[in-house]
Amino acid sequence: QAMLRLKNLVKTYKTGDQALKAVNLEVPDGQVLALIGPSGAGKSTMIRCINRLVEPTGGEVWLDDLEVSKLGAGALRRARRQMGMIFQEYALVERLSVMENVLSGRLGYVGFWRSLTRRYPQADVDEAFRLLDRVGLLHMADKRADELSGGQRQRVGICRALIQNPKLLLVDEPTASLDPKTSRQIMRLICELCAERGLAAIINIHDVALAQMFVNRVVGLRFGEIVFDGPPGGLTPDK
Ligand code: ADP
Ligand code: ADP
Repeated sequence: QAMLRLKNLVKTYKTGDQALKAVNLEVPDGQVLALIGPSGAGKSTMIRCINRLVEPTGGEVWLDDLEVSKLGAGALRRARRQMGMIFQEYALVERLSVMENVLSGRLGYVGFWRSLTRRYPQADVDEAFRLLDRVGLLHMADKRADELSGGQRQRVGICRALIQNPKLLLVDEPTASLDPKTSRQIMRLICELCAERGLAAIINIHDVALAQMFVNRVVGLRFGEIVFDGPPGGLTPDK
């Protein structure tokens, strides 16, 4: 069975917006797919319903044998460790160092503030150095996040997601704030890292051409429904 399964996933916001209308999707282990579609199609909502940063209003989310959509707070926190998230605006803590931002991923959303007052386990620090080296930022480890360029910040965001050792990456518009050349570099890096680590990923990406360059499966969303699912060759440029 596929690692990630969305069954009739529905999200209706309190405003009445039907952002997702019974979406069904299966993502096998290690598969990287691009989620495309016009603004307002529900891409961001779908990504956030998977780890319940947005609460679905109907349907099921399964991660292997875990029904994520049924979990209580503690179990959800543990399940989220398996789902690394990468954001458009990086969501780094600006006044902290690159190293601390990466380590914040290891300690999780909830443990993070507590972590500021305690020592980091050496194994985590070693892994953070390895990741920073892999993305070409070893020399920036002690810099404050707000000293970095956009592309560098996104590399830190990638390291922070990977240090959790997730099996799935949820990637929300990773290149929307970057120039075209940096965008390609970041997409290439994300896809290479997924291949190296056998990670699955769902990448919400506005730029169809960029998606076509790097992935084998494209899922098209429109008005909260999947309207395309296949290899990128089947896409027309305006879709
Ligand atoms: P939920 O149903 O997940 O609790 P709400 O409907 O309460 O979400 O909306 C959360 C916040 O997002 C509200 O402050 C709302 O005003 C705001 N919001 C409303 N419409 C949009 C939109 N189209 N895009 C982003 N945020 C919106
Ligand atoms: P996309 O990521 O494809 O641009 P979104 O998931 O952001 O699409 O939005 C899907 C629909 O849900 C849109 O109609 C949007 O206005 C609405 N929406 C998104 N967030 C909220 C929110 N917090 N409250 C109310 N409506 C929202």
